[in-house]
Amino acid sequence: MSNGHEPKKNAVYAAPAPATNFIRNIVDADLAGNKFAARMWAGKPGLSSDHAKGQHDQAKIRTRFPPEPNGYLHIGHAKSICLNFGLARDYGGRCHLRFDDTNPAKEEQEFVDAILDSVHWLGFDYEKNGESNLYFASDYFDWMYEFAESLIEKGYAYVDSLSAEEMREYRGTLTEKGKDSPFRNRSVAENLALFREMRDSKHADGANVLRARIDMQSPNINLRDPAMYRIKRAHHHRTGDKWCIYPLYSYAHPIEDALEQITHSICTLEFEDQRPYYDWLLEHIRDAGFLADPLPRQYEFSRLNLTYIVLSKRYLNQLVSEKYVDGWDDPRLPTIAGARRRGYTPEGIRLMMERSGVSKADSWIDYGLLEDCMREHLNDVAPRRTAVLDPLKLIITNYPEGQSEACFAPNHPQKPELGKREVPFSGELWIEREDFQETPQKGFFRLYPPMGDQPGNKVRLRYGFVIQCTGCEKDAAGNITKVTAEYFSDSKSGTPGSDTYKVKGNIHWVCAKGAYAAQVRLYDRLFTTPYPGRESGNYLTDLNPDSKRTITAYLERSLKDAKPEERFQFERHGYFVADRVDSLPGAPKFNRAVTLKDSWTAK
Ligand code: ATP
Ligand code: MG
Repeated sequence: MSNGHEPKKNAVYAAPAPATNFIRNIVDADLAGNKFAARMWAGKPGLSSDHAKGQHDQAKIRTRFPPEPNGYLHIGHAKSICLNFGLARDYGGRCHLRFDDTNPAKEEQEFVDAILDSVHWLGFDYEKNGESNLYFASDYFDWMYEFAESLIEKGYAYVDSLSAEEMREYRGTLTEKGKDSPFRNRSVAENLALFREMRDSKHADGANVLRARIDMQSPNINLRDPAMYRIKRAHHHRTGDKWCIYPLYSYAHPIEDALEQITHSICTLEFEDQRPYYDWLLEHIRDAGFLADPLPRQYEFSRLNLTYIVLSKRYLNQLVSEKYVDGWDDPRLPTIAGARRRGYTPEGIRLMMERSGVSKADSWIDYGLLEDCMREHLNDVAPRRTAVLDPLKLIITNYPEGQSEACFAPNHPQKPELGKREVPFSGELWIEREDFQETPQKGFFRLYPPMGDQPGNKVRLRYGFVIQCTGCEKDAAGNITKVTAEYFSDSKSGTPGSDTYKVKGNIHWVCAKGAYAAQVRLYDRLFTTPYPGRESGNYLTDLNPDSKRTITAYLERSLKDAKPEERFQFERHGYFVADRVDSLPGAPKFNRAVTLKDSWTAK
């Protein structure tokens, strides 16, 4: 845990929201230099000839968020979404939502739907001023194919018949140059014929590959004749069985950007070494007359890493498919769907993305920053309610039997305009087990019984009366089953003279009669270590066995009517949400989003 990878909680959190970042500086400079002023836009993706027939592009810049529909979006994707959609919003641009669905086997409609849902939930839209920018890369397959033929004709691409293993050998290593394939000098006619045969299903999967002819000696491995097309007989979720050759990501992605007239193609740092190929490809396709300047430019920033969680689709997939969690929307997962079910808010996530900044420096962000952002927003918007999570019966022996009365609790202490709500009070209440100690520890100011000539302790039942403890009852095993107390009838909160009672403890309670016994899920971090797997070698061994606890809690009655996704602060406990998936009408289940304070201690 050294070498600059520590969580930067304090440093990051203390910093004001960054007004700018290096990408914004680039956009500022581009706009100041009128770099995009002459751009045309056909109203949809296309060749330069299509765009030339369109209008001047109203969008000052175009960015894109290009998820591959092979999993659910996670908090790392939210970084990219906030960055790309945020730039478009702030600079009078457009952000395209493009499904990068060029790899047939792994992609599914379920993921497409979930991704659309998550982007909307985060507060972003690909529709603006009547222009919809929702695209599928697979819609560009014909263009990609056409460009490939044109590159072959110009001698910039060839069909290689080496096996995958031979190709690896010929590629060389970081320290060793590559060498030319014996098929590298096939004639244009032969390459064209072979490529068409590949398309027409005349060759077996893997038998041939179309490669760019660049430089097998290049110090940059990505320029050693990268593969452009491979043969793969697989059903595609949109193009069906039309194609049996599919473009590789590094070939497809720049073309997608160019057809969509993307100005700033922002990706994570691991693509930095791909940039020369990105430029090589687009320049050659431009020179062939399909594209026009200014071509899209790629910019890299460091990906978001969060402690105590994994942010890789491969791992998330394993956690879901091997049932370590209860599905993609399990509230413990860092998926957007999971965060939503957990009770996190889009505002809190956006705040976190703003606070964690955009840079080229690799860093880890403490999970606590995300939680702090959530607390900050939820504190502002969540109405207060009372809930007893670990219930113990309290009997007020001098309260008239069968009677009850109304107490009034503010809905939000900092927002009196939200008013108060009525909570019933009677002689039988639920309190938290930890608010009573038979033999009080030093400094314990809540309920404890009389001892010798020392009287039982007094506390205020929040928004209710002051009571004095008189004793407790136990079962045969010695467990405390009931606490008894007497109340002071002239101490009711809000009534004249009630504040003459000075007590150190103030505890919450729920009237036993009519209390709503609800299922409440208490979530904790999914992993016990900040960098899962780093020391143990296997991230699965660092799973927190106590990351989910299900309890039955007693909630104030009004919570029975909570609607799915309504969020509350349960006083003294944290922020909770009525579960959006398995709540029944009139019987919501609650998930804890986050505690009131950072209570995490690594085990
Ligand atoms: P994973 O590594 O989890 O499989 P991915 O990058 O393969 O993610 P894509 O669907 O290709 O997933 O990602 C869509 C966009 O989201 C890409 O532009 C990618 O750079 C960005 N992105 C993914 N993970 C992060 C992250 N942790 N931080 C910032 N951006 C991310
Ligand atoms: Mg990817």
